[in-house]
Amino acid sequence: MGSMPRVAVVGGSLGGLTAALLLRDLGCEVSVYERSTSELEARGAGIAVLEATWRYPVECLGVPASTFSSQTRWVRFVNRDGSTAHESEHPYYLSSWNAVYRVLLNGFGRDNYHLSAEVVEFQDEGDQVRIVLADGRTDCVDLLVFADGISSTARRRLLPEVKAEYAGYIAWRGVIPEAELTAETYGELFDTLSYQVMPNSHILVYPIPGYDGEVEPGKRLMNIVWYRNASAEELEALLLDSNGEKRYVSVPPGLVNSQAVEEMREAARAQLAPQLCEVVENIPEPFIQVVYDINVPQMAFGRVCIIGDAAFAARPHAAAGTAKAAEDGWILAREIAAADGNVLEALANWEPKQLRMGSELIARTSEIGYRSQVANTFEPGDPSLIFGLYGPGN
Ligand SMILES: Cc1cc2nc3c(=O)[nH]c(=O)nc-3n(C[C@H](O)[C@H](O)[C@H](O)COP(=O)(O)OP(=O)(O)OC[C@H]3O[C@@H](n4cnc5c(N)ncnc54)[C@H](O)[C@@H]3O)c2cc1C
Repeated sequence: MGSMPRVAVVGGSLGGLTAALLLRDLGCEVSVYERSTSELEARGAGIAVLEATWRYPVECLGVPASTFSSQTRWVRFVNRDGSTAHESEHPYYLSSWNAVYRVLLNGFGRDNYHLSAEVVEFQDEGDQVRIVLADGRTDCVDLLVFADGISSTARRRLLPEVKAEYAGYIAWRGVIPEAELTAETYGELFDTLSYQVMPNSHILVYPIPGYDGEVEPGKRLMNIVWYRNASAEELEALLLDSNGEKRYVSVPPGLVNSQAVEEMREAARAQLAPQLCEVVENIPEPFIQVVYDINVPQMAFGRVCIIGDAAFAARPHAAAGTAKAAEDGWILAREIAAADGNVLEALANWEPKQLRMGSELIARTSEIGYRSQVANTFEPGDPSLIFGLYGPGN
């Protein structure tokens, strides 16, 4: 067997950690460089967890998905009056960024996981890549994996022509403890992924683990994702945070300006089914994520590659963002093993598959978004809405 490459992974979120774990399991020496100064910032709130995301914890760490996810049995579309428009049995694992992060980071350990480590420069020197951190530290590796998310430094540097395209809408997000809901609303929502389809809009509501990872019904959080259109001018106003600072990708909990929150709550009272309205209206710190499409023509550049949202960022309608990031890592590890540690050969075999997966996901999710937010041809119970990375339910 050839010697395994030394690897640096930039970005220690779900995509970066999964890749780092898999490459380390192959025998690579792996360091993770993460810009955040501390662990466990509450980020992104709820995520539906598909196979590629739970696979490492379950198969390699022996941590059952039910210990870091809430489970729902039903998918229910509700009408404005709260009655059921369509219901089917379809189980999901639903979790939070924090809960999955905790499992992966515990698996990787802290020795080679560097916080406050922002990578600001890199240079491919042919047989090695050199990276430079903001504090001046450097490292030289055989393979550099950028998992640095939607605002990726590497993407901007390697593919300056690629721009994030605003999809025309944002997602309102937020959580409230289930225990604070009325018994009636809790009863309607606790075992269900609930949807309401409205003209040029739709909302999803589902339970996720509690702040400390609690998965028992009654101790969890109820999470919302409400897609609402915003013109360029409206977007500008939404992204001005309560400190007067202009944001681009998201406005974090507690920092959305009060006028925007008030308008959103008013719209909830006017448009949402009573049980969904109760959740939305009472969320103490709703926050905003902007929906973008990012399409890249290339993911491998010599000894450097980009994975997850650093490469393609797809609209969230397939709930496949973290699964795509993890899958990029699974296939990368498989190709490094197949090439016996030869980085250039492995990346050449890896890239075409990941480009196809990313562009197909973008095409599928932008079609779903178009039908919901523009064409109004989104039907309750539409099978194409079942979450999946490679296709609905897949
Ligand atoms: C409204 C909405 C709903 C979503 N719902 C779901 C869902 O249900 N299921 C799902 O799977 N996905 C969902 N997603 C998508 C998901 O959040 C992303 O696809 C996923 O987080 C991407 O993971 P990543 O590891 O590629 O990047 P990220 O999670 O963005 O992580 C990037 C990391 O890189 C670090 N970093 C950045 N630059 C540097 C640098 N220069 N040096 C060092 N570190 C750096 C950052 O601090 C961060 O930790 C949703 C997204 C949105 C907007």
